Amino acid sequence: MTTGVEDDVLTSMTTTSDPSMRTWRRQRRTGMIAVTVAVLLGLIALALALAEALPIDGTVELLAGISSVAAVTGTSLVLFLLLLISRWPVLERAFGQDQLVGWHKRLAPWAVYLIAAHVLLIITASAVEANRAWIAGIAVVIRTNPGIVPALGGLIIMVTAGITSWRRARRRLRHETWWTLHLLTYAGIVLAFFHQVVAGDTFDDGAARAFWVALYVLVLGLVLWNRVLVPVARSRRHRLSVTEVVRESGDVVSVWMTGRDLDRMRLLPGQFMNFRFRHRGLSYEAHPFSVSGRDGDRLRITVKALGDASTTLMDVPAGTRVTFEGPYGVMTPPRAEGSRYVLVAGGVGIGPIVSLVRGLGARGVPIDVIYRASVPEDLVLADELREYEAAGTIRLHLLPGPRAVQRMDAGHLTALLGDLSDATVFTCGPAALNEAVEESARVLGVPGSRIHSELFDL
Ligand SMILES: Cc1cc2nc3c(=O)[nH]c(=O)nc-3n(C[C@H](O)[C@H](O)[C@H](O)COP(=O)(O)OP(=O)(O)OC[C@H]3O[C@@H](n4cnc5c(N)ncnc54)[C@H](O)[C@@H]3O)c2cc1C
Repeated sequence: MTTGVEDDVLTSMTTTSDPSMRTWRRQRRTGMIAVTVAVLLGLIALALALAEALPIDGTVELLAGISSVAAVTGTSLVLFLLLLISRWPVLERAFGQDQLVGWHKRLAPWAVYLIAAHVLLIITASAVEANRAWIAGIAVVIRTNPGIVPALGGLIIMVTAGITSWRRARRRLRHETWWTLHLLTYAGIVLAFFHQVVAGDTFDDGAARAFWVALYVLVLGLVLWNRVLVPVARSRRHRLSVTEVVRESGDVVSVWMTGRDLDRMRLLPGQFMNFRFRHRGLSYEAHPFSVSGRDGDRLRITVKALGDASTTLMDVPAGTRVTFEGPYGVMTPPRAEGSRYVLVAGGVGIGPIVSLVRGLGARGVPIDVIYRASVPEDLVLADELREYEAAGTIRLHLLPGPRAVQRMDAGHLTALLGDLSDATVFTCGPAALNEAVEESARVLGVPGSRIHSELFDL
């Protein structure tokens, strides 16, 4: 088996499927248009809710009107949150999954607050109208609103998913548990939907109802298509299976897989895929791993044992079937501009960086690779990089040692690399390394649009 410079499959793929910078900009524009249209559709829904609520006459109508607007805004936001994580290529290519997931995380609490406000306000309005205590308002709401009980069930699911996504709570949960709770929110969303088209004031008939149903069908259709049907079809087509596990260090292995028609897979250097290994302890959930290499019709990921799944992967047997979602990720050659490239890897972040070396190496632009690890033994795949160095493709800076010594501040980077103002910088490693490199690059005059990072944590 060879993994070196001569097996430059990713480079050859780049010549056939690597979109140009212009394509990348077009994809970005298309993504912006899609987000703008989504926001406009949300505003139409809001306008319909306002039209239904106005004019307002008295306290009860005021409370019910605000409740209704909160419900429509919150639910529109829920649909937007689903769109962000639908893996729709139009958005994935334009913004990258980490950015989309980041927006999803930041906006999600607002959806829950708005829907919770809707529930509290409608109970208050019902209690005031019936001249009863607030708590009795709950019974009034349940009695007078068909479909409300399943909708409340949906709300409880969403609130639970929200609370368990709160950073501190999430850290205490197994990822599988958090993921399962998140999957259940789809059921919660469907449960709430029936209440909206049966009992809600805004979308209970006519064109408004058709509009609302169409929004749901569109968004849930995109989720189903991109997260279920396309991955199933691609997995069946390429039929990946493990061929070999190669130990790279005490806690890092490379898993090689083979499959059918891999040369036809639209995979760019630097991208990752969500792999689900059909092996005990691994088949429940897919895990994201960057593709670190190609060798003919084989594909490699390089994995560090961090938790249950990645540790089990250390010994996954040859022949294990693998299904996948993706490829995803925008830390790819089309984003490389300028007269030189600087690639920074920390630990197992070397996977996508090695792929990028392959993808960018053919361009004849100077490439510096900085590779950080705590101890020299953790510099996995370094031999591959040395081959590129020997071939004159890259300048290699292996920097093992503690953070305090191998600092990534502007002074150290200048001493190592000289003028960076016309460079594109790619960095993949722990958050602290990525942040230090991004900050230093900015200080050294690299515009934000040419600093790209990937964190192995979504
Ligand atoms: C875009 C991306 C690319 C990655 N590429 C690589 C790579 O090339 N090599 C490598 O060793 N690691 C990579 N990772 C990290 C790898 O996915 C996790 O280490 C692995 O999923 C941990 O699972 P676990 O059960 O062993 O550990 P756990 O103890 O369950 O989790 C450890 C960490 O991984 C996160 N994690 C766990 N399961 C998932 C999941 N299904 N999806 C997303 N995050 C999860 C957890 O939130 C936690 O932060 C990548 C992660 C991302 C987001």
